[in-house]
Amino acid sequence: MSNDKTTISVLDDANLLVIKVGSVLVRGKRLDEVNQSWMDALARDIKTLIDNGKKVVIVSSGGVALGRKALGISEDTPPQDIPLAKKQAASSVGQYYVFNGYFKAFAKCGVNVAQVLLTMGETENRRMNLNARDTLYTLLDHGIVPVINENDTVSTGEICFGDNDRLSVRVAQMVGADAVILFSTADGLYTDNPDTNPQATHLPLIEKLGDEHIRMAGEAVPGLSTGGMKSKIEAAFSATKTGIHLIITDGLESHTLKKLCSNNSKRSSLFYAQHGNKIAARKMWIGAHMSPKGSVTIDDGALNALKNGKSLLPIGARKVSGDFKRGDVIEILNLSGTRIGMGISAYNIQDAKLICGHKSSEIADILGIITSDELIHRNDMVLE
Ligand code: GLU
Repeated sequence: MSNDKTTISVLDDANLLVIKVGSVLVRGKRLDEVNQSWMDALARDIKTLIDNGKKVVIVSSGGVALGRKALGISEDTPPQDIPLAKKQAASSVGQYYVFNGYFKAFAKCGVNVAQVLLTMGETENRRMNLNARDTLYTLLDHGIVPVINENDTVSTGEICFGDNDRLSVRVAQMVGADAVILFSTADGLYTDNPDTNPQATHLPLIEKLGDEHIRMAGEAVPGLSTGGMKSKIEAAFSATKTGIHLIITDGLESHTLKKLCSNNSKRSSLFYAQHGNKIAARKMWIGAHMSPKGSVTIDDGALNALKNGKSLLPIGARKVSGDFKRGDVIEILNLSGTRIGMGISAYNIQDAKLICGHKSSEIADILGIITSDELIHRNDMVLE
């Protein structure tokens, strides 16, 4: 583990990466054609990372861009001028091209891919968030690369639609990724717009992100992409606050990922994570933001185990109460009823009651299904 605040060392240290690919990079020369050779190169670079023991999640745009032709949307119509329903329809056509492009690219390297469509709303719901997280973990554990896009058909315009920069950070927070790379057409953040101001200088490292950086980013520019630099900086705020590094670079050339991982001269802006420890950030979030939906009373053995950094197993639970679902935050009480912490329950109240006091190996027999060995995982728990 190196403490170098450079893109190369952050990527070298990262075990789990989220890579966001912008529409402009995915689309080929024609309106309904992917840039297959670019995707092939990305897949090869990712395969090298996987061979080196890393896990990678892709968040890719391109649905709307590749579905334009079928919907009769001309190339020069900026995304903000396309009616929402037409954009959503275009996305549902184009998503096939996008995923098929990745499928072919990864098949050439012998890697399986999985299509995952998510909405921001779903990721804000703790239960759905846990389900999505478990699906992604299972895919990653099987060496499969999830290829995520926003589920544009059901997203709502004003709040959610068309912001994969934000979605990629949300996904990174969900799976506990170490870093997010945003591949677009810009090689990072400049002190001003480099297209109009020749004095603008490139910022390779942003350690303390502030409002001045939002100002530097300016407004989004019309084109195939929806976000522009501003949405990337907003994504960087969210990522770095929760202990995740964020890197912005242009992915215009083939093998940008390989260059970024191995070549100091590849330009990028690194937004350095505020908390070195992302689990600490997650715990802070559990402690600070949720109102508990119930409680679990634990015995002294479990209390000791928790203090030693272990998860809460059902066998250590004496009683559960309240009205909680899987993914809700509940209080953890000792035998005298004093709150000793809070955590995210992996089971709903009905199931938690049934497995309370039982060994984890008995869960399958009791519930017919085993969602998790733990009632509350240690990473999902904060002790007082
Ligand atoms: N989901 C949109 C698409 O596939 C893109 C969103 C974005 O570019 O941020 O076209």
